[in-house]
Amino acid sequence: MSGTVYLVGAGPGAPDLLTLRAARLLERADIVFYDALVHPDTLGLAARAEKIAVGKRCGRHSTAQRFINKRLVDAAQKHAVVVRLKGGDPLLFGRAQEEIDELDAAGIRFEVVPGITAALAASAAVGRSMTRRGLSRNVAFVTPRTGAGEQNHDWAQAVLAADTCAIYMGVGQAAAIAATLLARGASSDLPLVIIENASLPDERRLPARLADLPLVAAGGIAGPAIILIGEVYAQVSATPAAAVPERSRAA
Ligand code: SAH
Repeated sequence: MSGTVYLVGAGPGAPDLLTLRAARLLERADIVFYDALVHPDTLGLAARAEKIAVGKRCGRHSTAQRFINKRLVDAAQKHAVVVRLKGGDPLLFGRAQEEIDELDAAGIRFEVVPGITAALAASAAVGRSMTRRGLSRNVAFVTPRTGAGEQNHDWAQAVLAADTCAIYMGVGQAAAIAATLLARGASSDLPLVIIENASLPDERRLPARLADLPLVAAGGIAGPAIILIGEVYAQVSATPAAAVPERSRAA
């Protein structure tokens, strides 16, 4: 008899943006494999579990995905409650399908517990509805990032087609994003806002127009950040510099 693997969303950052189901599973967990962006207080709920860090902050060392897949299978053979804790929602840009496929192939039971994804926490931070009557009838979750060996995909087409769009893992290539979108016909006035550390005490809102995206993105962004684009973000105000803790201010 093997255990169950729970793929659990930890939410965007603030430890109290966690579902009750996730909290109860963490309390019961025998072992937890967690990602880099999970808050220490969230992890603290897993009082009796062995806790294993497996990754993932761009550019830094992280455990190879294939090795994580295998470790989940091994853990389920030893433990009743195995939690795989991922930032935001586990099913968005988290390579969950590779883990699910491996568990399926090994005949191991799994369940997915959804979490609040970064785009929703970021739009909440600026108080803007991602859909809006007469202005936005669809939302796209997009990343321009492709992994090693992955085919290129036309992320720009998705951005151009959407009324409102959230770009994950894009701030590091903001200049290329702006250049591509402008070359493909997007308006230089298109409103956007970068949200850094959404839902956390050092959250920052950096509003801009598409033409100024490279400049704004170069403003010392160190935490996880997401770019929200669309007319619904036209009137967003910036975080006053005085409200941002020293350590996350631009140098
Ligand atoms: N599964 C996660 C996304 C993982 S990809 C989710 O559903 O949210 C990691 C990217 O998510 C980061 O590069 C950043 O673009 C975004 N992100 C994660 N946490 C964030 C936060 N607190 N504030 C802003 N963006 C965040």
